[in-house]
Parts: sequence; C-alpha cells; structure tokens
Amino acid sequence: MNQNSRIESGSCLDAPILKERGQREVFCGLTGIIWLHRKMQDAFFLVVGSRTCAHLLQSAAGVMIFAEPRFGTAILEEKDLAGLADAHDELDREVARLLERRPDIKQLFLVGSCPSEVIKIDLSRAAERLSQIHAPHVRVLNYSGSGIETTFTQGEDACLEAMVPVLPETDAANLLLVGALPDVVEDQALSLLRDMGISDLSVLPADRADALPAVGPNTKFALLQPFLGETTAALTRRGATHIPAPFPFGEEGTTLWLRAVADEFGVTEEEFERVTAAPRARARKAVSAQAIGLNGKSIFFFPDSQLELPLARFLTRECGMTAIEVGAPYIHKGVVGPDMELLQVGTVSEGQDVDKQLDRCREARPDLTVCGLGLANPLEAEGLSTKWAIELVFTPVHFYEQAGDLAGLFSRPLRRKSLLMQGAAE
Ligand code: SF4
Repeated sequence: MNQNSRIESGSCLDAPILKERGQREVFCGLTGIIWLHRKMQDAFFLVVGSRTCAHLLQSAAGVMIFAEPRFGTAILEEKDLAGLADAHDELDREVARLLERRPDIKQLFLVGSCPSEVIKIDLSRAAERLSQIHAPHVRVLNYSGSGIETTFTQGEDACLEAMVPVLPETDAANLLLVGALPDVVEDQALSLLRDMGISDLSVLPADRADALPAVGPNTKFALLQPFLGETTAALTRRGATHIPAPFPFGEEGTTLWLRAVADEFGVTEEEFERVTAAPRARARKAVSAQAIGLNGKSIFFFPDSQLELPLARFLTRECGMTAIEVGAPYIHKGVVGPDMELLQVGTVSEGQDVDKQLDRCREARPDLTVCGLGLANPLEAEGLSTKWAIELVFTPVHFYEQAGDLAGLFSRPLRRKSLLMQGAAE
C-alpha cells in the first residue's frame, strides 16, 4: 500500500447519494454469457432473442471455429408472434434438436432478451416444461439478460440467482464463495482458505452440473463480485448467511476479505499471518511499483460494471488517487457498504443521466475516466484519458497475486498519455 497517500479517515457510507434516472450507456446482460460459459463446462446458454442479440454475442465472444460453441441464439422474428403457442413449440423443437446433437450438455439456460416478441414468452414456464421433458439428463433454467436491466453484470447475477433454488440442501457449516472468477484466481483463493484450515468450501457457479454446492441454514457465503445483490437475497432466503467484507481488490481489500471469512471460521491470528504474510508482501510491492504513476492523480467513474465503489476504494487508499465522482448503476449497501465505509470521494452517484454526468466530467477534467466503450472514444477526443470498464470484468484482477496488474490497468493509460505528450513536445 502506498502509505504516504493513504486516507486514514473519511467514509462515503452515510454521505448523500446523487440519484439519477436518465439515459444510460451500458451493455446488456447477455455479455455475461461470455465469461459464464467458460466457467460452467457442461452448460449451454440459449439466448431467446433477435438477430441483434446474436450479433452482440458473436462479436463480443468471437466466432469459435474449432470448438463446439456453448452458447447460441434462437432467433424470434415478428412473424413468430402470430401464435405464442407456436413460439413455445418452436423452442421445444430447437432444444430437442440441440440436446440430441450435444449429449455433453447437462445444464441449459434459456436466456431472455429485450425484444418485445421475447418478453411475451414465459421462459420460466418453458424452462419448467423442458426440464420435465429432459430430466434427469439435463436441467433447464431461465434468466433474463435483457438490455432493459441497467447494466451488463446483472446477467451473471440473474444466472446465479436462477441456480440458487436448485442447489442441494445441507446442514453442514460450510463456506460458499459466490461469483465467477478465472480458474487460476479462484484456485488462489481456495488455496489461501484451505491453508487456513477451512476445508468445507465450494464455489457458485461450479464447473459441472453434478458438482453444485450445497446450501443450508449453517452455510456462510462470501461474495467474489460486488454485482450479486439478487443472488445474495436468494441465498439468504435459503437460510445462508452473508459475510460482509470489502472486495478482494488490492492488498488491503484481499486481506480484509480474507480476515472477515477467517473470523467467521475461527482461524487464529497466527494462522492468518502465517498464510497471508508472504503474498501480502508481494502484493504490496507490486502495487507500490504501479502506484508511482497514480499517486496524486484524479479519477472519475461512470456507472457500468458495479465494480466502481470497491475499485475506487483500492485506487484511493492503496494507489493514492483522488476520486472525484464514483458512479454505480446500483448501490446495495449490504454488499458494498464495507468498501464505502473505507472510501472518501467527492460525489457518489447511483443510476445515470449520461448528458449531465458528461458535463460534470468535462468540468472536473479528471486525469483518468473509467467508462463504457461508447463514451471512451469521444472523451479521448476531448483530451481525457479513459479506461474501459468492461476490461475490468474480463481481466484477472482479484486477490493478492493480481493486485499489481490491477493497479497497472489504471496506470497504463496515464503512462501512454504522458509518452504521447512528450512525443508531441519533442
Ligand atoms: S438483449 Fe436487447 S440490448 Fe441485448 S443484444 Fe438483445 S436486443 Fe440488444
């Protein structure tokens, strides 16, 4: 951690939040399929949508030429509205064809989208009917990835929420980690916790349908991603208890997250120190190397990934940045409250009115602006340095070993800009 610039006091937890409900600029929840299909090895995501949905998925995920893809789009046209019964029959036929051709599929997600033709189809009824037809070989669930929701990370939240009711029941005092992380990062987290002696632990989503984690009244769960508000509510309804903690971004965030879990499972201080001392030191060193380029710089977050508040906590406390405005699509204080408690910021905003927010950003002229792809180019053209918010979800950034890379994601655009300016001056 950058000790010189660390903010020792101040919290935005109880500060007023600027709430905006205007036009917004974000991707839709279908985007989550791109990382979820890699996590769940025997799942297939069938988007019930339009040609636009098919194009979004193909351009975002790239066309897989050599592999059998594990997502696809059942395209509904206006004419399908002629009879909803026909649309259901057509869906049943498509699913039967798919499952016959792909016996490796064990979980099928029907993913709703926002075209009006799709909204009229009751996908939960379709999922129930198809589950009965294809049980026990395949479980069919549904969720919405629609662009009518406010942000793209809601797709993962909706997917995991849909899985919670089918998780097996247990009375065991187990630990559940919730959120899809790249395998290598997930393995690091599991290994740190196992080294502390916590052995009954599992992850949602599991990589296979037959390895679903069990949940019950003695289950405690810790979130790996801050955008899982609905999944948190669903797990709580199953009797599980949420362990509130700052998110594991950076050395401090990771340590506080691990400590919150360790405390729940009776890990001693000595044991905690033994397991975390070395990776903490590595993380601190890696972050300080990158923080040199961030210290004293200002940052402005447009609402996009829902990672904004925990990232702002990391950047202000560990990298010495000043947060002018931190916008988030939603603020669940039950989820991001522990990060907010540690964060000092000019303005916290929830929701978006993009024109007003652009005006505030232009006026503040931050050194770095984190925003969606659609805003980044125009802002760059106005001389502002930007960072694409979506990159933060696709890049391994959690836990100790990634802390330096996380800081590097923010320091790189600033370094690039200063090199360009130097070049222009020569
Ligand atoms: S779900 Fe809606 S926003 Fe997303 S690609 Fe389909 S039509 Fe577009």
